[in-house]
Amino acid sequence: MDVKLPIALQRLIAHLEKLPSVGHRTAMRHATALLNWKDADLAAFADELAHLHERVLACPICGNYTDGGPCPICASPNRNPAQICVVETPAQIEGVERTGCYRGLYHVLGGKFSPLSGVGPEQLRCKELRQRLENGLVKELILATSTDVEGEATANFIATQFHAEGLTITRLAIGIPTGADLSYTDSSSLAQAIAGRRTM
Ligand SMILES: [Zn+2]
Repeated sequence: MDVKLPIALQRLIAHLEKLPSVGHRTAMRHATALLNWKDADLAAFADELAHLHERVLACPICGNYTDGGPCPICASPNRNPAQICVVETPAQIEGVERTGCYRGLYHVLGGKFSPLSGVGPEQLRCKELRQRLENGLVKELILATSTDVEGEATANFIATQFHAEGLTITRLAIGIPTGADLSYTDSSSLAQAIAGRRTM
């Protein structure tokens, strides 16, 4: 028998189901948990959601998440400006940072090539990456895009288009299974992949 839920609860469940790895049953569980929250906590949660795009901005240099202005990594005097690790998403920065074995800077492309969805170099932050290389300070570009077909195509594009005198372009390889997304790769495999990167 189908139990008809209140409309507001159905809407809430529908929103929650849009989140990654949340199916109907999990959405239902989260929705009923929210029903038990105090009004003040619900209001605080709603306020964060309502202002998410105003409060979480993109770093004007690398594209990482920031409160405003350059992100803490770009602003740090302790990072090596000669290395830029190219990733698809800010979540992947988090993954590389967790290894604790990389002290260079980052560049977030904002995705990877996807001919079917119409994502090519124009839709990604490739132009911004080129601008960052103009000062000649960068000696190594580490391509840490995914190891699936789209991620490889993105890496190959950058390797061929950004080839320049005095710039080494490397690719993470060892230890990361094909198709893996860096944000979910365990730290020791990722640390090995950074240490064992190969020149493209
Ligand atoms: Zn930044």
